[in-house]
Amino acid sequence: MNVELTTAGIITERSEVTANYVLNALSIFVPLVGTLAGFVLWPFFAPTSTTIYIFFVFFFLTIIGLIVGLHRYFTHRSFETGSLFRLLLGICGSWAMQGPIDRWVADHRRHHRYSDQPFDVHSPYWKNQEKISSGFMRFAHAHLLWMFVGLPTDKAKYAKDTMSDPISGECSRRYWLLCASSILPVLVGFGLGGQDEAIRSFSGPAVFECHFCIN
Ligand SMILES: [Zn+2]
Repeated sequence: MNVELTTAGIITERSEVTANYVLNALSIFVPLVGTLAGFVLWPFFAPTSTTIYIFFVFFFLTIIGLIVGLHRYFTHRSFETGSLFRLLLGICGSWAMQGPIDRWVADHRRHHRYSDQPFDVHSPYWKNQEKISSGFMRFAHAHLLWMFVGLPTDKAKYAKDTMSDPISGECSRRYWLLCASSILPVLVGFGLGGQDEAIRSFSGPAVFECHFCIN
């Protein structure tokens, strides 16, 4: 056991590290398959004005869930709010498919604690405790690779409040169910324009790439 890593709240246990990579791979590649399917279907089901409206409404809700919910509220506790809005922020934030809330909070708090130093989660300069020398690898690590070469954060150390809160705790435990509920645009499309509109509303998660660029 590496005492330095354990003290920093970083998990090295093989099974947990692998489970974290699997979760990341699924969260990245499942939406990506949906995006590719959207492009394949494009010639047969080109978007209508209804599709565009549906896309932007859900895009906006997901962005709010991420920026206001996961980042400002759950991680930094920048404001106070009631349980209904907390639940909505938790649901919309989970639609971005960036992992359960408690894991997002733990990773982000660790990032702030060690910003661009060893142990930062997604630094362009450090991969765990190892310095990254090449420019391209710095970009690649900060943008995407950290999710497949980095080590998970100890949620009990960094996100105890998020885990014990009944709403964010439940949202975290039901992460995949909430991800599945992001099929809602398809149902709205069906309600507004029948089967063809439902297929058109099978929108790609552009929000994912958008948020990564912020990091
Ligand atoms: Zn922050």
